[in-house]
Amino acid sequence: MHRDCESIVLREEEIAARVKEAAAWLDARFFGTVPVAVCNLKGSVVFFCDLLRAMRTDTEMDFMAVSSYGDETVAAGRPKIKKQLFSSVEGRDVILVEDIVDTGRTLVTLRKFFEERRVRSLTVVALLDKPARRKVNVSADFTCFTVGDAFVVGYGLDYAEKYRDLPYLAVLKRSVYEH
Ligand code: 5GP
Repeated sequence: MHRDCESIVLREEEIAARVKEAAAWLDARFFGTVPVAVCNLKGSVVFFCDLLRAMRTDTEMDFMAVSSYGDETVAAGRPKIKKQLFSSVEGRDVILVEDIVDTGRTLVTLRKFFEERRVRSLTVVALLDKPARRKVNVSADFTCFTVGDAFVVGYGLDYAEKYRDLPYLAVLKRSVYEH
């Protein structure tokens, strides 16, 4: 384990097994169609790549970025769309791949964004859910894991751009972000 981490929340093998289940769930919905899978950068990127490669359904990839964090561990206000999609999603089935649903504000912003773009359907898949911190009533259509109220890193998730490359999910030591 990385020296800045306190404990492992989810091991690499546990994540891989659950990602397969998420892929099978999506295949059951979408096989035979070509949905657009949207990665909400950057935290979802590792999950996104693993998920799409575990699916049998053909997908197109697109990317966007919404963020409410600076180099902090608590969301700093209303989420802003920092990067728009490359292609039009009007009339398409969209699979939105999210890293964590925490307060839920990012997901509300994204649901509105896709509604305005008149997608045919929107399916949200989230790696993690932190229901204890929810501020708005929203949830993903498929959640891989529910976690408690601790700041986690790894498997794409960062603190100040670090730790995204860890293959597991771990709780960061408080001493790393509390000075
Ligand atoms: P929400 O708008 O639901 O509060 O925030 C969701 C975003 O906050 C996630 O997409 C993620 O980027 C970030 N976030 C929430 N909890 C954590 C956490 O424990 N670790 C990290 N690295 N990011 C988190």
